[in-house]
Amino acid sequence: MDGDIAISGGGIVGTSLALTLAREGLSVLLFDRMPSATPKKSGVDGRAFALSLSSCSLLKSIGLADLLRDRGQKITSVHISDGRAGEGAGPIALNLDAGEIQTDSFGCMIEGRYLLEGLIELAAVEPGIVRFSPSVVSKCRIESSKAILSLSSGQEYSSTAVAGCDGRNGPVARWIDPPRIEKDYGQSAIVCAVAHERPHCGTAHQFFMPPGPIAILPMPGSLSSIVWTESTSEASRLVSLPEEEFMHELRPRFGDFLGALRLAGDRFVWPLSLSLAERTAAPRATLVGESAHGLHPLAGQGLNLGLRDVAALTEIIVLAHRRGEDFGSINVLRRYQEWRRIDAASLAAATDFFNWIYSSDNGMLRAARSLGMGIVDGMPWLRRALIREAAGMSGMQPRLISGKPL
Ligand SMILES: Cc1cc2nc3c(=O)[nH]c(=O)nc-3n(C[C@H](O)[C@H](O)[C@H](O)COP(=O)(O)OP(=O)(O)OC[C@H]3O[C@@H](n4cnc5c(N)ncnc54)[C@H](O)[C@@H]3O)c2cc1C
Repeated sequence: MDGDIAISGGGIVGTSLALTLAREGLSVLLFDRMPSATPKKSGVDGRAFALSLSSCSLLKSIGLADLLRDRGQKITSVHISDGRAGEGAGPIALNLDAGEIQTDSFGCMIEGRYLLEGLIELAAVEPGIVRFSPSVVSKCRIESSKAILSLSSGQEYSSTAVAGCDGRNGPVARWIDPPRIEKDYGQSAIVCAVAHERPHCGTAHQFFMPPGPIAILPMPGSLSSIVWTESTSEASRLVSLPEEEFMHELRPRFGDFLGALRLAGDRFVWPLSLSLAERTAAPRATLVGESAHGLHPLAGQGLNLGLRDVAALTEIIVLAHRRGEDFGSINVLRRYQEWRRIDAASLAAATDFFNWIYSSDNGMLRAARSLGMGIVDGMPWLRRALIREAAGMSGMQPRLISGKPL
C-alpha cells in the first residue's frame, strides 16, 4: 500500500483534509493538477471567502490562527435588504449583529490565495503528507481491496480509500457517478474588489435585486469584495467593459454609503449552478467539498460546508481506524454520508429558494419577502437562530470544530 488515504484535489478542502488526517497519524497522498508554488501577486485579489466561525475554528486548529488574524477581516454585522439599481435599499431591512449571540463576529473574510498558500505551506512540512503537483488524476478503480488511483502520466498509487476533493466534474465524482440534483441558474457571479472612501466597520451587505443579489463583503483596510449576480449574458457584457464603464454600472447598485469607489484588482466571472450529489460514499471512495455539493454563492456557504465535511470525515475515519475497522469499507464511509446529508441538502434548498424568491421582480413576491424580513427582524429568537446558522454554529458539530480532541 502506498498510503492510507489518497486525496484527489489539493484545493482548500483537499489540503485541509490532508492536514487533519495526517495529524492523526494517517499517511496521505495528495494530488493536484496545479503546481504548488502559486506566485505571490501583489495588490488585491477580490476572490475572497466569508468563513463562518466554525470554519475559522477548524482552520485555527490546523495552525492558521496567525494567518486569519493578519490577513482576515472580522464580519461583525450583516445587513440584508431588497432594492433596485439606482433606487437604493428598500425600507424594510434585516440587521443581524454578532453581539446578539455573545460573539464578536460571524467569522471572517479572507482572500482565497492566502488561505491556500497557508495550507500548502503547512502540508509541505507535515511528515505524513506526500504532495504530488502538478499531477493530473485520470481515473480510479478497486483492485484486491485497495483503491488504485491512476495519473495521466501513467503512474498508479494504492491506498485504503480515495477522497475526491477535485470538484463536481473531477475523476472521483466521475468514478462514483452518483445521481445528482442539478439546476443551471442561468446566472453568473462577477467577483472583484473595490476600494472605498469610508470604513466598512466590519459590516457585510447583501442587496437583493431583480436579476440576482449583490454582496458587499468587508476586507482588511478600506476594501470590500463584491459578488455581483447577473444573468450570464449580462455578466459577460459587464466584465468586458472598460474599468470606468464597469464602475458606472456598479455604483448605482452599490450605493453611496461608503463614499467614492474605485476598482481594486481584476474582475472574475463564475457561471452559477446547483449540483448536489445524492450519494457521497462508495466502496473505497468518498466525495468531499465541491465534488459533493456546488451551491449558489448568495449565502457564502459552499466552502464552509466543505470544511464541515473535512472535520466530519476525519472524525469518522480516525475513530474507525483506531477501532481496527477497514475505514475504506462502504459501512464506514456511509456514516460520513449520513452525517453530512442534512447539512448539504438543507443549505442547497435554502440557497435555491432564496435565489428564486429574491431574484424576482414580481410584486407579490416582493411584498412577501419584505414581510418575511420584517417578521424575522422583529423576532429576536429567530434572528439569533439565523445568526447561529450563518456562523455555522447550529447542528451537530464535529469534534475538530468544537475544539475537542478526537
Ligand atoms: C462567486 C463565488 C463566491 C463564493 N464565495 C464563498 C464564500 O464567501 N464562502 C464560502 O464558504 N464559499 C464560497 N463559495 C464556494 C467556494 O468557492 C467553494 O465551495 C470552494 O472553493 C470549494 O473548494 P474545493 O476545494 O472543494 O474545490 P475547488 O476549489 O474547486 O478545488 C478543486 C481542486 O481539485 C484540483 N483538481 C481538479 N481536477 C483534478 C484532477 N483531475 N487531478 C488533480 N487535481 C484536480 C483543482 O486543481 C483544485 O485545486 C463561492 C463560490 C463562488 C462561485
